Amino acid sequence: MEQKKFKTEVSELLHLIIHSLYSHKEIFLRELISNASDALDKLKYLTLVDPAFKELQFSPRIDISFTDEEHGKTLVISDNGIGMSHDDLADDLGTIARSGTKNFLKNLTEDQKKDSNLIGQFGVGFYSSFMVAEKVEVVSRKAGSEEAWKWSSNGKGTFTLEEAERESQGTTITLSLNEEGHEYASRWTLDRLVKRYSDHIAFPIFISYDEEEYDDKGKKKGQKTHKVEQINSAAALWRRSKNELTAEDYHEFYKNTSFDTEDPLLYIHTQAEGANNYTTLFYIPSKAPYDLYHADYKPGVKLYVKRVYITDDEKELLPTYLRFIRGVIDSEDLPLNVSREILQQNRIMGNIRTASVKKILGELKKVAEQNPELYGKIVDQFNRPLKEGLYSDYANRENLLELVRFKSSEVEGYTSLASYVERMKEDQKHVYYLAGGNEETIRRSPLLEGYKKKGIEVLLMTDDIDDIVVPSIGTYQEKTLQAINKAGAVDELDKDESKKKKKEGKDVIKKIKKALGERVKDVVVSSRLVDAPAVVVVDDNDMTVQMQQILKSMGQSDMPESTPILEINLDSPVVRKIADSEDEAFVADLSQVLLDQALINEGVMLKNPADFVKRLTSLLSR
Ligand code: ADP
Repeated sequence: MEQKKFKTEVSELLHLIIHSLYSHKEIFLRELISNASDALDKLKYLTLVDPAFKELQFSPRIDISFTDEEHGKTLVISDNGIGMSHDDLADDLGTIARSGTKNFLKNLTEDQKKDSNLIGQFGVGFYSSFMVAEKVEVVSRKAGSEEAWKWSSNGKGTFTLEEAERESQGTTITLSLNEEGHEYASRWTLDRLVKRYSDHIAFPIFISYDEEEYDDKGKKKGQKTHKVEQINSAAALWRRSKNELTAEDYHEFYKNTSFDTEDPLLYIHTQAEGANNYTTLFYIPSKAPYDLYHADYKPGVKLYVKRVYITDDEKELLPTYLRFIRGVIDSEDLPLNVSREILQQNRIMGNIRTASVKKILGELKKVAEQNPELYGKIVDQFNRPLKEGLYSDYANRENLLELVRFKSSEVEGYTSLASYVERMKEDQKHVYYLAGGNEETIRRSPLLEGYKKKGIEVLLMTDDIDDIVVPSIGTYQEKTLQAINKAGAVDELDKDESKKKKKEGKDVIKKIKKALGERVKDVVVSSRLVDAPAVVVVDDNDMTVQMQQILKSMGQSDMPESTPILEINLDSPVVRKIADSEDEAFVADLSQVLLDQALINEGVMLKNPADFVKRLTSLLSR
């Protein structure tokens, strides 16, 4: 017998599961059944595509039994699926195979560790059995192999492996139930849980139990008969007709297959017949998956071919920006032995994908129009990925433009581009926006002052990707999108006034330009600042200062820096002081501080804060 230690992350995971999922401990059954079902899927697939397994006589099934004795209660879950070899047992049940799970664990905060929904989301799987068992034994024989092995552990740091017997391929898991687990040694409890969580499992699940025999007068005969009964309906839910399914059916199926404990926000069920025959069932979760912004996110859509499970690890089934969608694609037309390479350039798959994206976006549009409250919840979680679609999915751009939402200087909450345009002033030519930085910084930008005063709405772009995405939109309903922190926006507010002011400011501009030299591309008079003395903008084709900062923080240090344009407010006392002073040193200090404070206002980190402080002190002491 070998004794082995769990990898540290397993011990950590076990600890986490036992402490955070405790109120949902019954899910262990769902997890074990789902593993059994996966194992059956895998073997069924092999019998269809691998000549070595073609001859195998195989009727897939899952069996549950229990003992309810005074001295010990056990629960046994058994399948005749693919099984595990010695090494599989050691690797799959002794380590956490998925690197995403490892990283996830590492990055969890204390608060997140208490959020059972979050923990449940990444599939705690097999280990959840230790919530209800003091000891777990797994006897398994891999399909095609003669040997069987027994893995056993009390979940406290180590497990053992020894040779064992099993008549044919498959896995039998025996839980020695602990006190919290006693309730599961009951026919009715098991029946209820299987119906609730695993009804959709495509293979029959049987329960066996002993039933007391009674005579005609209702007296116990003192004899029991052994019975075996199928509990689940064993039909793939997505293949059932839509009108026989209720919202609850859809929700239960979702919770069973996605590890989410909350109902989804939306489900979209499509059964297509004709040129392409396929079924899709998509869900939008109530919360963004934890790995939404990880490069190695786990895709949420499973591929089936004629109800045979093919893969849950294919990122190409839907475009990347729809990676938050969960669900199933089941094709009638794809070959069963479809490989990843074939999938990626397969015309049938391409058609399903194109139609699925259209369908999902179409349904979202319907929700946006008919159920703004629900759409608000979707936007809260998934606005950002939808924005990614704006630059990655050109074909669906029109639809996406109606779906993305923005904050605004004039209305509360989110607004669409369409309703912005409806609110536009009669002679307004552009859709104005300000991007870069968090909402608070943006809302405080002095650039907004002039627009506010004139009642012109400005969209506030608060997502980190807005700076990349929004310029790529170009125009919407024939209105150009104009960033107000770009020089092109300067003159539009009030053409006559700005001409007059330009003349007035000639001298002071000369002074400031001389003082700032290379630090600015230009100094111009502003027609839109009200209280603030100055603000920085950039040339239309230059990167905004915030954008430069983002790229720098991502490690791009070699990009060309664009020099800002300083826009000054002639009515501000500070600018007037510069205009009135003949003291060159004073003008120099004040001009530098004017630029620095404008940069700080935009959330920019000064390159040399010490210089700024020195000048400020010198000015203060004057
Ligand atoms: P997950 O199912 O999320 O991968 P688990 O911890 O539940 O994580 O299971 C780990 C691995 O152990 C599975 O991926 C599978 O390879 C293997 N496994 C678990 N249960 C079975 C089973 N009944 N039959 C065959 N393999 C299994």
